[in-house]
Amino acid sequence: MNNRTVSKKLFLWLSVFSLISLMAIVTALWYFISPRLHEFHYALPLIFLSGLRIFFLILVVGTILVLLTSVFEKNFLIAKFAVKLFIQIVYPISLLFGKIFRIPKSAIAESFIKVNDSLIRALKLKYKSSDVLILLPHCLQNSDCLIRITIDPKNCERCGNCDIGAICKLAEEYNVNVAVATGGTLARRIVLEKRPKLIIAVACYRDLVSGIQEAFPIKTLGILNIRPQGPCINTEVDVEKIRDSLKKIIKNK
Ligand code: SF4
Repeated sequence: MNNRTVSKKLFLWLSVFSLISLMAIVTALWYFISPRLHEFHYALPLIFLSGLRIFFLILVVGTILVLLTSVFEKNFLIAKFAVKLFIQIVYPISLLFGKIFRIPKSAIAESFIKVNDSLIRALKLKYKSSDVLILLPHCLQNSDCLIRITIDPKNCERCGNCDIGAICKLAEEYNVNVAVATGGTLARRIVLEKRPKLIIAVACYRDLVSGIQEAFPIKTLGILNIRPQGPCINTEVDVEKIRDSLKKIIKNK
């Protein structure tokens, strides 16, 4: 599925459906085990049912607030909690239900990345330049270029044959850190070393989702790369999307 056709609505509706299904499954489980609970104590089924009702109420109210937060990009009380909830709990559950309905994982992931971005934007937080890291995949570099940019992207000679040069220029303009990672291990090491408070990550949907999950509680805005020659070689990115993110999150810009 094309990146431009996937909106955050897909993940939001899938998460609502997943949570409703989850409630139905848990209720059915309660129905089947309640006679057993009754054998232990006559009040146990009722106590369990009351607990479930309170849990479902929190879930429903929480989900409505998350939907409002994501759609309007305004903090409806729980944006911070919503980011955690969606990254750690709702995404894996939605993937499971998506599989049942044969929704491509890439479409769910792309939609999730957009929802994650909207929840972060809803917080309306501004960061110092030194607290922001632009994290790039090595496949953005032109495959014929011999310059070692993973050691230091500033080595890039900005010849214009790939997007790395334009991104380095942008990073200089906004005085933010920029790093290039060859894989997850190096990306983790870079994050540990630079200790950013916000990451703007460019990658394919798979790496972005795992990066968002692993970097948490550090917030990660995800920008999908473009792959005109297929995955992992000579990829590209819309540099204006990175500029747009920087404009919104850097203090005094
Ligand atoms: S822009 Fe930089 S990284 Fe890209 S090909 Fe030119 S020198 Fe190499």
